[in-house]
Amino acid sequence: STSRMFTEGVPVVVEDVPRRSATDRAELLADPGFGRYFTDTMFIARYRTGQGWYDARLTAYAPLQMDPSTAALHYAQSIFEGLKAYAQPDGSVATFRPTANAARFARGAKRLAMPPVPEDGFLAAVDALVDADRDWVPTGPDQTLYIRPYQLATEPFLGVRPANEYLFLVIASPAGAYFSRGVHPVSVYLSEDYIRAAPGGTGDVKCAGNYAASLLAQEQAIAAGCDQVVWLDALEKRYVEEMGGMNLFFVLGSGADAELVTPELTGTLLPGITRDSLITLAREKGHTVTERRFSVEEWRKGVADGTVTETFACGTAAVITPVGEVRARTGDFVIGDGTPGPLSMELRSSLLDIQHGRVPDTHGWLHRV
Ligand code: PMP
Repeated sequence: STSRMFTEGVPVVVEDVPRRSATDRAELLADPGFGRYFTDTMFIARYRTGQGWYDARLTAYAPLQMDPSTAALHYAQSIFEGLKAYAQPDGSVATFRPTANAARFARGAKRLAMPPVPEDGFLAAVDALVDADRDWVPTGPDQTLYIRPYQLATEPFLGVRPANEYLFLVIASPAGAYFSRGVHPVSVYLSEDYIRAAPGGTGDVKCAGNYAASLLAQEQAIAAGCDQVVWLDALEKRYVEEMGGMNLFFVLGSGADAELVTPELTGTLLPGITRDSLITLAREKGHTVTERRFSVEEWRKGVADGTVTETFACGTAAVITPVGEVRARTGDFVIGDGTPGPLSMELRSSLLDIQHGRVPDTHGWLHRV
């Protein structure tokens, strides 16, 4: 049957998908973890040069068959997104700012020389999947359905050039708390050996290769007893860019006059949608928010003389995670008394309240499915 369009001229074919029982689902939703279990359905659409997007369908979540010469497997012509669906108090389901993800995804496609998924198609695909699997949106405290759209080059060809065939998929995974230690502050390791992104590179898009290149530094962070890696700028290794998969904020001063600083979007860090939302929320609360370069030296000195009172990381997966401790070759330091700061926790509650529909959505950020 066909109920909706993917994009102009491409209907979404809805297949009859085998479904796990309510009991099996409830068992997985009781302790979903992150990224371990997937819903019954996936969305898939194909692209071919000259033909455009075609064959959009909701089908059973199942392994893909790929030619061993599939371009993406060799040259990483591949991008992804991450957003969440939240169960609302009235029983409905809403995603958070999906149009921002659609726009970032299209920008990433262009950077990787891929045909962008039309933004209406991205939204239609996410809506179609969430609608089909709405029983999988968990309703426990802080639980969500994590949605993973992605696009990869599928042309079987070993030449290095943009492929002529692509897949666009959307899968979804019920999620509990992202960090197993909950809202406890994380310790971070400054990556002084490896860099994540250089000017002119791909640091400001979500391409698969960025994450592959980050793993060794993350391993180094773990080996140093830290939870997460913090990336510095490539040229001087002096300015803070972002954390593993999250943007960073520094709180200067305290109380109503506290100011926030977040690294400016230099092209080498990801423009996070959580970052953007928190800039808006903090300004509405009367705080000054400045986007500028912020050096390790300013961080360290500010913590020592009491100017920098809090540091937190933010992203879709974990919302806000306070940073408690920093380890670096040049010396370690503890932020405040190492416990979550008040502004970090206040902003965290404010954003979670909006996402979970506990306060009116005055920004129009929720998208009902
Ligand atoms: N930086 C990186 C490298 C990321 O992968 C993410 C997660 N998408 C973020 C920051 C946070 O972005 P968002 O708030 O849109 O999830």
